[in-house]
Amino acid sequence: MSDDRTLLNELLEKQKAGGLKPSDRYAIPPQPMPAQEASERRSNISEVAQGYTETQARLEAMRCLQCKTAPCMEGCPVRIRIKDFVTAIAEGQYGEALAIIKENSLLPAVCGRVCPQEVQCQEKCTVGKKFKDVDKAVAIGRLERFAADRAGAAPAVPQVAAPTGKKVAIIGSGPGSIVAAADTRRAGHEVTVFEAFHKPGGVMVYGIPEFRLPKAIVQQEIDVLKQMGVEIVCNFVVGRTRTVDQLMKDDGFDAVYVGVGAGLPSFMNIPGEHLIGVYSANEYLTRANLMKAYNFGKGADTPIAVSKRVAVLGGGNVAMDAARTALRLGAEKVYLVYRRSEKEMPARLEEVHHAKEEGVDFRILQNPKRILGNGDGNVAGMECLKYELGEPDSSGRRRPVPIEGSEFTLDVDTVIVAIGNGANPLIGQTTPGLELNKWGNIVVDEKCKTSLEGVYAGGDIVLGAATVILAMGQGRTAAAAINEYLASKA
Ligand SMILES: Cc1cc2nc3c(=O)[nH]c(=O)nc-3n(C[C@H](O)[C@H](O)[C@H](O)COP(=O)(O)OP(=O)(O)OC[C@H]3O[C@@H](n4cnc5c(N)ncnc54)[C@H](O)[C@@H]3O)c2cc1C
Ligand code: SF4
Repeated sequence: MSDDRTLLNELLEKQKAGGLKPSDRYAIPPQPMPAQEASERRSNISEVAQGYTETQARLEAMRCLQCKTAPCMEGCPVRIRIKDFVTAIAEGQYGEALAIIKENSLLPAVCGRVCPQEVQCQEKCTVGKKFKDVDKAVAIGRLERFAADRAGAAPAVPQVAAPTGKKVAIIGSGPGSIVAAADTRRAGHEVTVFEAFHKPGGVMVYGIPEFRLPKAIVQQEIDVLKQMGVEIVCNFVVGRTRTVDQLMKDDGFDAVYVGVGAGLPSFMNIPGEHLIGVYSANEYLTRANLMKAYNFGKGADTPIAVSKRVAVLGGGNVAMDAARTALRLGAEKVYLVYRRSEKEMPARLEEVHHAKEEGVDFRILQNPKRILGNGDGNVAGMECLKYELGEPDSSGRRRPVPIEGSEFTLDVDTVIVAIGNGANPLIGQTTPGLELNKWGNIVVDEKCKTSLEGVYAGGDIVLGAATVILAMGQGRTAAAAINEYLASKA
């Protein structure tokens, strides 16, 4: 650590004396993210990655070449002025760094933690290209998190314009909805968020576990909405409690944003999926995260299976989260069963790495054939087949082909299915005239307007299971269109 401090001082001196050359910047070692030890963290739910120190953040920021064309910005779905905020961190101007990020992203503490930077901004970074290794790119996400965390106390409350007399309903309270609510409220409209669960925040609260995204961070953003005057109504299922039509025709809402996400789990459709001990990842994670099942009997009312041997099916972020949660809930053995090879896994590399460090047993090129019961209706094992890779399929990934006669049994008492989620169907089923595509996602134009006047949509319900940053981007686009639409009706 003191070596880092010495290096930083030397670099600051050099900068004062005439500036840093690219060779000086390339010579700065990429700063590793401090993290809880794997052996320790697998038995607690606290955040794994602990954030840069100030010295680390400034050193990492000094690795940035401040490229004229800033290719990193092109890779950012919401076009944050990356090189400017990184420069501000290098100069110790953390408040300014955060202000720059907030021009385009309302939730930097969230995005700095969960955005897939390695396939967005960092993939395009010149420094990563120079070293031919995306892991050696400037750690933009970690710096974003640093700037957000450094601000410490609650985020500033944006100003709200004078009342317009118009009412906006926001359905769902995920990241897209939070941005849509903030931006429409800023314009002076009366905004109400309707959330089906008892707690707002969407997947950031019910899906992504505490050890990756502390819930206090999401709560801070919800508190800001409340301080802006946004009303948040929980336990309110639009399509059941009230329909979109009723909100608009009877309850006086002039515009609606639908941000209900993609929370409909897919299953394998294999024998035995009805057995006790088979969960969708959504249910498993909701019990664990939202309902705090890890505290069952000690303040939490929701139980979860006490599992010893768990198989998680899938290779995405959701599968990693489920596998790592199962370890933290006390499982002795957790298998991650994936039918392609590790190269094809859609999960973020960091999540794969963390899962392995924590002891998740990766069973690649394997897939279940059926789940076995014990006669009492409980899971007692899983019969699997081995696979090999064939020709590329329509997704460009090599097709997994089962190897005949390769059956074997995994000894498990719990199976968590994490093979993807579809659109939540309720709004589509209860809103006549709302155009959906063949997967049940709401069809919108470039302004996020749906086929119905005054109704806008964004996030996973439009994009399919996507990312926090893309949902936020659509929330912003939709809010701008709603503000324009309501201004035209004035
Ligand atoms: C386990 C898991 C891990 C993930 N990890 C990452 C990650 O690391 N990085 C990343 O960028 N993305 C990740 N994602 C994806 C990301 O969380 C989503 O893309 C994003 O949250 C979608 O935002 P959204 O605005 O569409 O709303 P969502 O977050 O999907 O929230 C929708 C909300 O609408 C509510 N709702 C649904 N129906 C109704 C109704 N009829 N009435 C009222 N309310 C309703 C739901 O209860 C929910 O709270 C992950 C997803 C999951 C499931
Ligand atoms: S591409 Fe990388 S080095 Fe260039 S400005 Fe962006 S972060 Fe800095």
